[in-house]
Amino acid sequence: MGAGDDGGGAVGRDEAVLRAICDVSTEGICIHEGGLIVSCNAALGAMFGYQSESLTGRSVLELAAPDYVDFVRANYESKLPLTYLAWGSRSNGTRFRAEIRARTIVSETSDLRVVVVRDLSGSDAAAGERAATISLLRATLDSTTDGILVVDVAGLVTLYNERFLQLWQLPMDKMAAATDLDAMKLVAAQLVDPASFFGRVAALYQAPETESMDTLEFTDGRIVERYSRPQRIGDRIIGRVWSFRDVTAQRRAEHTLELAVQMRDEFLGIASHELFTPITSLAVAIRGLRESTDACTDDSLRVRLFRNAERQVARLARLVQELLDVTRIDGGRMSLVVDELDLCEVARDVLERFSPELDRDHIEAHLSAPHPVVGRWERTRLEQVATNLVGNAIKFGRGRPIHLSVALSDGRGELSVGDQGIGIAADQQALIFERFQRAVSSRHFAGLGLGLYITRQIVEAHGGTLLLKSVVDEGSTFTVRLPLRVPGELTP
Ligand code: ADP
Repeated sequence: MGAGDDGGGAVGRDEAVLRAICDVSTEGICIHEGGLIVSCNAALGAMFGYQSESLTGRSVLELAAPDYVDFVRANYESKLPLTYLAWGSRSNGTRFRAEIRARTIVSETSDLRVVVVRDLSGSDAAAGERAATISLLRATLDSTTDGILVVDVAGLVTLYNERFLQLWQLPMDKMAAATDLDAMKLVAAQLVDPASFFGRVAALYQAPETESMDTLEFTDGRIVERYSRPQRIGDRIIGRVWSFRDVTAQRRAEHTLELAVQMRDEFLGIASHELFTPITSLAVAIRGLRESTDACTDDSLRVRLFRNAERQVARLARLVQELLDVTRIDGGRMSLVVDELDLCEVARDVLERFSPELDRDHIEAHLSAPHPVVGRWERTRLEQVATNLVGNAIKFGRGRPIHLSVALSDGRGELSVGDQGIGIAADQQALIFERFQRAVSSRHFAGLGLGLYITRQIVEAHGGTLLLKSVVDEGSTFTVRLPLRVPGELTP
Protein backbone atom coordinates (compact mmCIF):
# COMPACT_ATOMS: atom_id res chain seq x y z
CA MET A 1 0.00 0.00 0.00
CA GLY A 2 1.00 3.57 -0.03
CA ALA A 3 3.73 5.08 2.07
CA GLY A 4 3.21 4.76 5.78
CA ASP A 5 5.01 4.72 8.98
CA ASP A 6 6.29 1.31 9.99
CA GLY A 7 5.85 2.33 13.61
CA GLY A 8 6.67 -0.11 16.35
CA GLY A 9 4.96 -2.64 18.67
CA ALA A 10 1.85 -4.75 17.97
CA VAL A 11 -0.03 -2.14 15.97
CA GLY A 12 2.99 -1.49 13.79
CA ARG A 13 3.40 -5.21 13.15
CA ASP A 14 -0.30 -5.67 12.29
CA GLU A 15 -0.08 -2.87 9.83
CA ALA A 16 3.04 -4.37 8.27
CA VAL A 17 1.22 -7.71 7.93
CA LEU A 18 -1.77 -6.04 6.28
CA ARG A 19 0.51 -4.18 3.93
CA ALA A 20 2.29 -7.38 2.97
CA ILE A 21 -1.07 -9.10 2.31
CA CYS A 22 -2.03 -6.24 0.03
CA ASP A 23 1.27 -6.39 -1.78
CA VAL A 24 1.12 -10.12 -2.53
CA SER A 25 -2.55 -10.10 -3.48
CA THR A 26 -3.28 -10.56 -7.18
CA GLU A 27 -6.59 -8.80 -6.65
CA GLY A 28 -6.70 -5.04 -6.77
CA ILE A 29 -7.21 -3.46 -3.35
CA CYS A 30 -7.93 0.18 -2.72
CA ILE A 31 -9.02 2.27 0.22
CA HIS A 32 -10.88 5.46 -0.44
CA GLU A 33 -12.47 8.12 1.63
CA GLY A 34 -15.64 9.61 0.17
CA GLY A 35 -14.47 8.50 -3.26
CA LEU A 36 -10.89 9.82 -3.04
CA ILE A 37 -8.24 7.14 -3.12
CA VAL A 38 -6.16 7.07 0.03
CA SER A 39 -4.11 4.03 -0.82
CA CYS A 40 -4.00 1.09 -3.30
CA ASN A 41 -1.84 -1.90 -4.03
CA ALA A 42 0.36 -2.61 -7.06
CA ALA A 43 -2.14 -5.18 -8.43
CA LEU A 44 -4.85 -2.51 -8.64
CA GLY A 45 -2.49 -0.12 -10.45
CA ALA A 46 -1.50 -2.86 -12.89
CA MET A 47 -5.14 -3.84 -13.45
CA PHE A 48 -6.13 -0.29 -14.44
CA GLY A 49 -2.81 0.54 -16.17
CA TYR A 50 -1.38 3.05 -13.66
CA GLN A 51 1.52 3.28 -11.24
CA SER A 52 -0.28 2.60 -7.97
CA GLU A 53 1.31 5.68 -6.29
CA SER A 54 -0.09 7.94 -8.99
CA LEU A 55 -3.63 6.92 -8.05
CA THR A 56 -3.44 8.34 -4.54
CA GLY A 57 -5.69 11.38 -4.25
CA ARG A 58 -7.63 10.61 -7.44
CA SER A 59 -11.32 9.73 -7.58
CA VAL A 60 -12.33 6.07 -7.68
CA LEU A 61 -14.91 7.12 -10.24
CA GLU A 62 -12.10 7.60 -12.75
CA LEU A 63 -11.64 3.83 -12.59
CA ALA A 64 -15.28 3.09 -13.45
CA ALA A 65 -16.48 2.85 -17.05
CA PRO A 66 -18.41 6.12 -17.79
CA ASP A 67 -21.79 4.37 -17.81
CA TYR A 68 -21.03 2.85 -14.40
CA VAL A 69 -19.92 6.01 -12.61
CA ASP A 70 -23.33 6.71 -11.01
CA PHE A 71 -23.78 3.10 -10.07
CA VAL A 72 -20.37 2.92 -8.34
CA ARG A 73 -20.99 6.22 -6.56
CA ALA A 74 -24.39 5.07 -5.30
CA ASN A 75 -22.82 1.89 -4.02
CA TYR A 76 -20.12 3.53 -1.90
CA GLU A 77 -22.43 6.25 -0.70
CA SER A 78 -24.73 3.56 0.62
CA LYS A 79 -21.85 2.44 2.90
CA LEU A 80 -23.30 -1.07 2.72
CA PRO A 81 -21.08 -4.12 2.49
CA LEU A 82 -21.59 -5.04 -1.16
CA THR A 83 -20.42 -7.47 -3.81
CA TYR A 84 -21.39 -6.47 -7.34
CA LEU A 85 -20.37 -6.64 -10.97
CA ALA A 86 -19.40 -3.51 -12.86
CA TRP A 87 -17.30 -2.42 -15.81
CA GLY A 88 -13.89 -0.91 -15.11
CA SER A 89 -12.03 1.57 -17.34
CA ARG A 90 -8.30 1.15 -17.96
CA SER A 91 -5.90 4.04 -18.54
CA ASN A 92 -5.82 3.16 -22.27
CA GLY A 93 -9.61 3.56 -22.50
CA THR A 94 -10.51 -0.13 -22.73
CA ARG A 95 -13.17 -1.58 -20.47
CA PHE A 96 -13.23 -4.81 -18.59
CA ARG A 97 -15.67 -6.76 -16.49
CA ALA A 98 -14.90 -6.59 -12.80
CA GLU A 99 -16.22 -8.05 -9.62
CA ILE A 100 -16.22 -5.57 -6.73
CA ARG A 101 -16.41 -6.39 -3.03
CA ALA A 102 -16.51 -3.45 -0.63
CA ARG A 103 -16.84 -2.71 3.10
CA THR A 104 -16.98 0.63 4.85
CA ILE A 105 -15.01 1.13 8.08
CA VAL A 106 -16.90 3.76 9.97
CA SER A 107 -14.96 5.91 12.45
CA GLU A 108 -15.59 9.19 14.25
CA THR A 109 -13.29 11.18 12.03
CA SER A 110 -13.85 9.62 8.63
CA ASP A 111 -15.37 6.65 6.82
CA LEU A 112 -12.89 4.53 4.93
CA ARG A 113 -14.13 2.17 2.28
CA VAL A 114 -12.04 -0.90 1.47
CA VAL A 115 -12.60 -2.17 -2.04
CA VAL A 116 -11.33 -5.40 -3.60
CA VAL A 117 -11.50 -5.55 -7.39
CA ARG A 118 -11.24 -8.78 -9.44
CA ASP A 119 -10.61 -8.62 -13.16
CA LEU A 120 -13.08 -11.02 -14.80
CA SER A 121 -11.92 -10.46 -18.35
CA GLY A 122 -9.60 -13.49 -18.10
CA SER A 123 -12.40 -15.75 -16.96
CA ASP A 124 -14.63 -14.22 -19.65
CA ALA A 125 -12.05 -15.30 -22.19
CA ALA A 126 -11.99 -18.77 -20.69
CA ALA A 127 -15.79 -18.91 -20.78
CA GLY A 128 -15.71 -17.64 -24.36
CA GLU A 129 -13.19 -20.28 -25.31
CA ARG A 130 -15.34 -22.93 -23.71
CA ALA A 131 -18.38 -21.67 -25.59
CA ALA A 132 -16.41 -21.67 -28.86
CA THR A 133 -15.24 -25.24 -28.25
CA ILE A 134 -18.77 -26.36 -27.47
CA SER A 135 -20.13 -24.67 -30.59
CA LEU A 136 -17.38 -26.23 -32.69
CA LEU A 137 -18.20 -29.63 -31.24
CA ARG A 138 -21.90 -29.08 -31.89
CA ALA A 139 -21.30 -27.94 -35.48
CA THR A 140 -19.01 -30.92 -36.09
CA LEU A 141 -21.58 -33.27 -34.61
CA ASP A 142 -24.37 -31.85 -36.72
CA SER A 143 -22.42 -31.78 -39.97
CA THR A 144 -21.06 -35.32 -39.77
CA THR A 145 -22.89 -37.96 -41.80
CA ASP A 146 -22.54 -40.38 -38.88
CA GLY A 147 -25.21 -40.65 -36.23
CA ILE A 148 -23.60 -40.03 -32.82
CA LEU A 149 -24.88 -40.96 -29.38
CA VAL A 150 -23.04 -40.43 -26.10
CA VAL A 151 -24.17 -42.21 -22.97
CA ASP A 152 -22.79 -41.78 -19.45
CA VAL A 153 -21.72 -44.61 -17.17
CA ALA A 154 -25.17 -44.74 -15.62
CA GLY A 155 -26.66 -45.31 -19.07
CA LEU A 156 -28.16 -41.80 -19.41
CA VAL A 157 -28.04 -40.17 -22.83
CA THR A 158 -25.73 -37.15 -22.63
CA LEU A 159 -25.50 -36.15 -26.27
CA TYR A 160 -26.74 -37.09 -29.74
CA ASN A 161 -26.88 -35.40 -33.09
CA GLU A 162 -29.56 -34.82 -35.74
CA ARG A 163 -28.26 -37.63 -37.92
CA PHE A 164 -28.66 -40.08 -35.05
CA LEU A 165 -32.36 -39.20 -34.79
CA GLN A 166 -32.81 -39.44 -38.58
CA LEU A 167 -31.04 -42.75 -38.85
CA TRP A 168 -33.11 -44.35 -36.15
CA GLN A 169 -36.27 -42.42 -37.05
CA LEU A 170 -36.52 -41.18 -33.48
CA PRO A 171 -38.56 -38.14 -32.50
CA MET A 172 -36.52 -35.67 -30.45
CA ASP A 173 -39.00 -35.52 -27.55
CA LYS A 174 -38.44 -39.24 -26.94
CA MET A 175 -34.78 -38.57 -26.27
CA ALA A 176 -35.29 -36.06 -23.47
CA ALA A 177 -33.96 -37.67 -20.29
CA ALA A 178 -33.80 -41.02 -22.04
CA THR A 179 -31.51 -43.83 -21.04
CA ASP A 180 -29.64 -45.93 -23.52
CA LEU A 181 -32.06 -48.76 -22.78
CA ASP A 182 -35.12 -46.56 -23.50
CA ALA A 183 -33.62 -45.58 -26.85
CA MET A 184 -32.81 -49.18 -27.70
CA LYS A 185 -36.32 -50.33 -26.89
CA LEU A 186 -37.71 -47.64 -29.19
CA VAL A 187 -35.63 -48.78 -32.14
CA ALA A 188 -35.44 -52.54 -31.65
CA ALA A 189 -38.36 -53.26 -33.98
CA GLN A 190 -36.42 -51.71 -36.86
CA LEU A 191 -33.76 -54.39 -36.67
CA VAL A 192 -33.69 -57.79 -38.28
CA ASP A 193 -32.12 -59.34 -35.17
CA PRO A 194 -32.95 -57.19 -32.11
CA ALA A 195 -31.95 -59.91 -29.64
CA SER A 196 -28.33 -59.98 -30.74
CA PHE A 197 -28.36 -56.15 -30.80
CA PHE A 198 -29.34 -56.08 -27.11
CA GLY A 199 -26.89 -58.87 -26.35
CA ARG A 200 -23.92 -57.08 -27.87
CA VAL A 201 -24.74 -53.81 -26.10
CA ALA A 202 -25.05 -55.59 -22.76
CA ALA A 203 -21.70 -57.33 -23.33
CA LEU A 204 -20.06 -53.99 -24.03
CA TYR A 205 -21.43 -52.40 -20.87
CA GLN A 206 -19.93 -55.34 -18.98
CA ALA A 207 -16.55 -54.47 -20.46
CA PRO A 208 -16.38 -50.66 -20.38
CA GLU A 209 -12.80 -50.60 -21.75
CA THR A 210 -13.74 -52.35 -24.98
CA GLU A 211 -14.00 -50.77 -28.39
CA SER A 212 -16.32 -52.41 -30.86
CA MET A 213 -17.43 -52.42 -34.45
CA ASP A 214 -20.30 -54.39 -35.87
CA THR A 215 -22.99 -54.26 -38.51
CA LEU A 216 -26.71 -53.82 -37.99
CA GLU A 217 -29.27 -54.96 -40.51
CA PHE A 218 -32.50 -52.99 -40.62
CA THR A 219 -35.79 -54.54 -41.65
CA ASP A 220 -36.15 -51.90 -44.38
CA GLY A 221 -32.96 -53.17 -46.01
CA ARG A 222 -30.54 -50.58 -44.65
CA ILE A 223 -27.17 -51.66 -43.39
CA VAL A 224 -25.56 -49.61 -40.65
CA GLU A 225 -22.08 -49.96 -39.21
CA ARG A 226 -21.86 -49.31 -35.50
CA TYR A 227 -18.67 -48.24 -33.78
CA SER A 228 -18.32 -47.74 -30.08
CA ARG A 229 -15.55 -46.65 -27.74
CA PRO A 230 -15.31 -45.51 -24.15
CA GLN A 231 -15.39 -41.79 -23.36
CA ARG A 232 -12.58 -40.88 -20.96
CA ILE A 233 -11.38 -37.98 -18.87
CA GLY A 234 -7.75 -38.85 -18.28
CA ASP A 235 -7.82 -42.48 -17.25
CA ARG A 236 -11.36 -42.39 -15.96
CA ILE A 237 -14.15 -43.78 -18.16
CA ILE A 238 -17.14 -41.46 -17.96
CA GLY A 239 -19.32 -42.91 -20.66
CA ARG A 240 -19.44 -44.44 -24.11
CA VAL A 241 -19.63 -42.91 -27.58
CA TRP A 242 -21.58 -44.75 -30.24
CA SER A 243 -21.44 -43.83 -33.87
CA PHE A 244 -23.64 -45.19 -36.61
CA ARG A 245 -22.85 -45.06 -40.30
CA ASP A 246 -25.33 -45.94 -43.03
CA VAL A 247 -23.31 -48.05 -45.46
CA THR A 248 -26.22 -49.35 -47.54
CA ALA A 249 -25.17 -47.58 -50.75
CA GLN A 250 -21.55 -48.57 -50.26
CA ARG A 251 -22.45 -52.22 -49.65
CA ARG A 252 -24.70 -52.24 -52.71
CA ALA A 253 -21.92 -50.77 -54.84
CA GLU A 254 -19.51 -53.39 -53.52
CA HIS A 255 -22.01 -56.11 -54.30
CA THR A 256 -22.54 -54.79 -57.84
CA LEU A 257 -18.79 -54.65 -58.29
CA GLU A 258 -18.40 -58.21 -57.06
CA LEU A 259 -21.09 -59.32 -59.50
CA ALA A 260 -19.37 -57.43 -62.31
CA VAL A 261 -16.05 -59.06 -61.52
CA GLN A 262 -17.72 -62.46 -61.28
CA MET A 263 -19.44 -61.84 -64.60
CA ARG A 264 -16.18 -60.78 -66.22
CA ASP A 265 -14.46 -63.91 -64.97
CA GLU A 266 -17.29 -66.10 -66.19
CA PHE A 267 -17.20 -64.28 -69.47
CA LEU A 268 -13.47 -64.76 -69.89
CA GLY A 269 -13.92 -68.45 -69.11
CA ILE A 270 -16.63 -68.82 -71.73
CA ALA A 271 -14.79 -66.62 -74.25
CA SER A 272 -11.61 -68.60 -74.06
CA HIS A 273 -13.55 -71.84 -74.30
CA GLU A 274 -15.50 -70.53 -77.24
CA LEU A 275 -12.38 -69.39 -79.04
CA PHE A 276 -10.58 -72.59 -78.27
CA THR A 277 -13.27 -75.00 -79.55
CA PRO A 278 -13.28 -73.89 -83.19
CA ILE A 279 -9.52 -73.67 -83.21
CA THR A 280 -9.25 -77.29 -82.04
CA SER A 281 -11.74 -78.43 -84.66
CA LEU A 282 -9.88 -76.39 -87.23
CA ALA A 283 -6.62 -78.03 -86.30
CA VAL A 284 -8.17 -81.50 -86.60
CA ALA A 285 -9.80 -80.61 -89.90
CA ILE A 286 -6.63 -79.26 -91.36
CA ARG A 287 -4.63 -82.27 -90.24
CA GLY A 288 -7.29 -84.50 -91.82
CA LEU A 289 -6.98 -82.45 -95.00
CA ARG A 290 -3.26 -82.86 -95.10
CA GLU A 291 -3.43 -86.60 -94.45
CA SER A 292 -6.22 -87.09 -96.99
CA THR A 293 -4.18 -85.43 -99.70
CA ASP A 294 -1.42 -87.97 -99.05
CA ALA A 295 -3.40 -91.15 -98.53
CA CYS A 296 -6.89 -90.73 -99.84
CA THR A 297 -8.31 -89.57 -103.09
CA ASP A 298 -11.96 -89.59 -101.94
CA ASP A 299 -13.28 -86.21 -103.06
CA SER A 300 -16.42 -86.24 -100.90
CA LEU A 301 -14.37 -86.66 -97.72
CA ARG A 302 -12.12 -83.85 -98.85
CA VAL A 303 -15.13 -81.60 -99.51
CA ARG A 304 -16.62 -82.34 -96.08
CA LEU A 305 -13.37 -81.59 -94.36
CA PHE A 306 -13.01 -78.37 -96.28
CA ARG A 307 -16.55 -77.29 -95.41
CA ASN A 308 -16.00 -78.01 -91.77
CA ALA A 309 -12.77 -76.04 -91.78
CA GLU A 310 -14.55 -73.13 -93.41
CA ARG A 311 -17.42 -73.23 -90.91
CA GLN A 312 -15.08 -73.22 -87.97
CA VAL A 313 -13.04 -70.39 -89.38
CA ALA A 314 -16.23 -68.39 -89.98
CA ARG A 315 -17.34 -69.05 -86.41
CA LEU A 316 -13.99 -68.00 -85.08
CA ALA A 317 -14.11 -64.87 -87.16
CA ARG A 318 -17.61 -64.07 -85.83
CA LEU A 319 -16.55 -64.45 -82.23
CA VAL A 320 -13.52 -62.29 -82.70
CA GLN A 321 -15.67 -59.77 -84.58
CA GLU A 322 -18.11 -59.67 -81.63
CA LEU A 323 -15.32 -59.00 -79.17
CA LEU A 324 -13.95 -56.28 -81.36
CA ASP A 325 -17.36 -54.71 -81.85
CA VAL A 326 -18.01 -54.63 -78.15
CA THR A 327 -14.77 -52.85 -77.43
CA ARG A 328 -15.57 -50.40 -80.22
CA ILE A 329 -19.09 -49.76 -78.97
CA ASP A 330 -17.87 -49.32 -75.40
CA GLY A 331 -15.36 -46.81 -76.70
CA GLY A 332 -18.26 -44.99 -78.43
CA ARG A 333 -16.83 -45.64 -81.86
CA MET A 334 -19.62 -47.06 -84.02
CA SER A 335 -19.62 -45.05 -87.23
CA LEU A 336 -21.73 -46.09 -90.19
CA VAL A 337 -20.88 -46.09 -93.87
CA VAL A 338 -24.34 -46.03 -95.47
CA ASP A 339 -25.41 -46.91 -98.96
CA GLU A 340 -28.68 -47.46 -100.79
CA LEU A 341 -29.71 -51.07 -100.40
CA ASP A 342 -32.65 -53.45 -100.29
CA LEU A 343 -33.34 -55.05 -96.92
CA CYS A 344 -34.84 -58.08 -98.69
CA GLU A 345 -31.49 -58.73 -100.32
CA VAL A 346 -29.73 -58.61 -96.99
CA ALA A 347 -32.16 -61.16 -95.53
CA ARG A 348 -31.85 -63.40 -98.58
CA ASP A 349 -28.02 -63.30 -98.57
CA VAL A 350 -27.77 -64.07 -94.89
CA LEU A 351 -30.21 -66.95 -95.14
CA GLU A 352 -28.26 -68.26 -98.11
CA ARG A 353 -25.08 -68.23 -96.07
CA PHE A 354 -26.77 -70.31 -93.39
CA SER A 355 -28.04 -72.91 -95.89
CA PRO A 356 -25.29 -75.50 -95.24
CA GLU A 357 -26.11 -75.39 -91.53
CA LEU A 358 -29.87 -75.42 -92.13
CA ASP A 359 -29.51 -78.35 -94.52
CA ARG A 360 -27.26 -80.25 -92.19
CA ASP A 361 -29.70 -79.87 -89.26
CA HIS A 362 -32.79 -80.25 -91.47
CA ILE A 363 -34.23 -76.92 -90.41
CA GLU A 364 -36.81 -75.25 -92.59
CA ALA A 365 -36.39 -71.54 -93.14
CA HIS A 366 -39.00 -69.34 -94.86
CA LEU A 367 -38.50 -65.84 -96.10
CA SER A 368 -41.40 -63.55 -96.92
CA ALA A 369 -40.10 -60.53 -98.83
CA PRO A 370 -42.74 -59.66 -101.41
CA HIS A 371 -41.55 -56.12 -102.18
CA PRO A 372 -38.17 -54.42 -102.13
CA VAL A 373 -37.58 -52.33 -99.03
CA VAL A 374 -34.98 -49.80 -100.00
CA GLY A 375 -33.24 -47.52 -97.56
CA ARG A 376 -29.88 -45.95 -96.80
CA TRP A 377 -28.13 -48.22 -94.32
CA GLU A 378 -24.76 -49.88 -93.80
CA ARG A 379 -24.89 -53.26 -95.54
CA THR A 380 -22.28 -55.14 -93.47
CA ARG A 381 -23.86 -53.98 -90.22
CA LEU A 382 -27.35 -55.05 -91.26
CA GLU A 383 -25.93 -58.38 -92.40
CA GLN A 384 -24.44 -58.70 -88.94
CA VAL A 385 -27.89 -57.98 -87.41
CA ALA A 386 -29.62 -60.57 -89.57
CA THR A 387 -26.82 -63.08 -88.97
CA ASN A 388 -27.12 -62.73 -85.21
CA LEU A 389 -30.89 -63.09 -85.24
CA VAL A 390 -30.96 -66.04 -87.63
CA GLY A 391 -28.02 -67.66 -85.84
CA ASN A 392 -29.94 -67.43 -82.53
CA ALA A 393 -33.16 -68.71 -84.13
CA ILE A 394 -31.23 -71.77 -85.29
CA LYS A 395 -29.39 -72.19 -82.00
CA PHE A 396 -32.45 -71.80 -79.76
CA GLY A 397 -35.11 -72.97 -82.26
CA ARG A 398 -35.10 -76.69 -81.34
CA GLY A 399 -34.80 -77.59 -85.02
CA ARG A 400 -38.24 -76.19 -85.79
CA PRO A 401 -39.01 -73.91 -88.76
CA ILE A 402 -37.76 -70.35 -88.85
CA HIS A 403 -39.67 -67.49 -90.43
CA LEU A 404 -38.11 -64.31 -91.76
CA SER A 405 -40.10 -61.44 -93.17
CA VAL A 406 -39.14 -58.10 -94.64
CA ALA A 407 -41.72 -55.39 -95.23
CA LEU A 408 -42.30 -51.69 -95.32
CA SER A 409 -44.40 -50.74 -92.31
CA ASP A 410 -45.44 -47.19 -91.40
CA GLY A 411 -42.67 -45.81 -93.59
CA ARG A 412 -40.02 -47.96 -91.95
CA GLY A 413 -38.10 -50.98 -93.07
CA GLU A 414 -39.00 -53.96 -90.91
CA LEU A 415 -37.13 -57.24 -90.60
CA SER A 416 -38.44 -59.92 -88.30
CA VAL A 417 -36.97 -63.28 -87.42
CA GLY A 418 -39.23 -65.77 -85.64
CA ASP A 419 -38.59 -69.23 -84.26
CA GLN A 420 -40.62 -71.85 -82.38
CA GLY A 421 -37.92 -72.72 -79.92
CA ILE A 422 -37.23 -72.48 -76.21
CA GLY A 423 -38.46 -68.88 -75.81
CA ILE A 424 -37.28 -66.37 -73.22
CA ALA A 425 -38.80 -65.87 -69.76
CA ALA A 426 -40.43 -62.47 -69.26
CA ASP A 427 -37.98 -61.42 -66.54
CA GLN A 428 -35.03 -62.14 -68.83
CA GLN A 429 -36.33 -60.32 -71.86
CA ALA A 430 -34.85 -56.92 -71.07
CA LEU A 431 -31.60 -58.35 -69.70
CA ILE A 432 -30.50 -60.31 -72.76
CA PHE A 433 -29.84 -57.07 -74.65
CA GLU A 434 -27.12 -56.19 -72.15
CA ARG A 435 -23.49 -57.17 -72.57
CA PHE A 436 -22.59 -60.73 -71.57
CA GLN A 437 -26.15 -61.46 -70.45
CA ARG A 438 -27.55 -64.85 -71.33
CA ALA A 439 -30.77 -66.58 -70.34
CA VAL A 440 -29.30 -70.05 -70.88
CA SER A 441 -26.45 -72.07 -69.48
CA SER A 442 -23.17 -72.03 -71.36
CA ARG A 443 -23.05 -75.79 -70.98
CA HIS A 444 -26.07 -76.25 -73.22
CA PHE A 445 -25.73 -73.39 -75.67
CA ALA A 446 -22.50 -71.89 -76.95
CA GLY A 447 -22.15 -68.10 -77.20
CA LEU A 448 -20.64 -65.03 -75.58
CA GLY A 449 -23.87 -63.20 -74.81
CA LEU A 450 -22.78 -60.30 -76.99
CA GLY A 451 -24.79 -60.84 -80.18
CA LEU A 452 -28.01 -59.12 -79.10
CA TYR A 453 -26.13 -56.31 -77.41
CA ILE A 454 -24.24 -55.56 -80.62
CA THR A 455 -27.40 -56.04 -82.68
CA ARG A 456 -29.26 -53.47 -80.62
CA GLN A 457 -26.36 -51.02 -80.81
CA ILE A 458 -26.26 -51.33 -84.63
CA VAL A 459 -30.04 -50.90 -84.92
CA GLU A 460 -30.00 -47.87 -82.63
CA ALA A 461 -27.04 -46.36 -84.49
CA HIS A 462 -29.34 -46.45 -87.54
CA GLY A 463 -32.05 -44.67 -85.54
CA GLY A 464 -34.12 -47.86 -85.32
CA THR A 465 -35.59 -50.13 -82.66
CA LEU A 466 -35.29 -53.79 -81.81
CA LEU A 467 -38.35 -55.48 -80.33
CA LEU A 468 -38.84 -58.90 -78.83
CA LYS A 469 -41.93 -61.02 -78.38
CA SER A 470 -41.38 -64.32 -76.72
CA VAL A 471 -43.17 -67.04 -74.79
CA VAL A 472 -41.25 -69.78 -73.01
CA ASP A 473 -41.45 -73.09 -74.90
CA GLU A 474 -43.37 -71.48 -77.76
CA GLY A 475 -40.72 -69.35 -79.43
CA SER A 476 -39.39 -65.86 -79.99
CA THR A 477 -39.71 -63.17 -82.62
CA PHE A 478 -37.22 -60.34 -82.89
CA THR A 479 -38.30 -57.36 -84.97
CA VAL A 480 -35.96 -54.69 -86.29
CA ARG A 481 -37.54 -51.40 -87.38
CA LEU A 482 -35.37 -48.95 -89.28
CA PRO A 483 -36.07 -45.48 -90.60
CA LEU A 484 -35.30 -45.46 -94.34
CA ARG A 485 -32.53 -43.00 -93.73
CA VAL A 486 -30.24 -42.66 -90.74
CA PRO A 487 -31.29 -39.52 -88.84
CA GLY A 488 -28.73 -36.78 -89.27
CA GLU A 489 -27.22 -38.33 -92.40
CA LEU A 490 -26.21 -35.64 -94.89
CA THR A 491 -28.03 -35.87 -98.23
CA PRO A 492 -25.57 -37.38 -100.70
P1 ADP B 1 -25.43 -65.63 -77.28
O1 ADP B 1 -26.44 -66.19 -78.23
O2 ADP B 1 -24.05 -65.60 -77.79
O3 ADP B 1 -25.56 -66.18 -75.93
P2 ADP B 1 -26.92 -63.19 -77.62
O4 ADP B 1 -26.66 -61.81 -77.12
O5 ADP B 1 -27.16 -63.37 -79.07
O6 ADP B 1 -25.75 -64.08 -77.11
O7 ADP B 1 -28.18 -63.74 -76.86
C1 ADP B 1 -28.26 -63.54 -75.48
C2 ADP B 1 -29.18 -64.56 -74.84
O8 ADP B 1 -30.51 -64.32 -75.27
C3 ADP B 1 -28.91 -65.99 -75.25
O9 ADP B 1 -27.88 -66.56 -74.49
C4 ADP B 1 -30.25 -66.64 -75.00
O10 ADP B 1 -30.41 -66.91 -73.63
C5 ADP B 1 -31.22 -65.53 -75.36
N1 ADP B 1 -31.72 -65.64 -76.74
C6 ADP B 1 -31.33 -64.94 -77.82
N2 ADP B 1 -32.02 -65.27 -78.92
C7 ADP B 1 -32.90 -66.23 -78.52
C8 ADP B 1 -33.91 -67.00 -79.20
N3 ADP B 1 -34.17 -66.84 -80.49
N4 ADP B 1 -34.62 -67.87 -78.45
C9 ADP B 1 -34.38 -68.02 -77.13
N5 ADP B 1 -33.43 -67.35 -76.45
C10 ADP B 1 -32.70 -66.46 -77.13
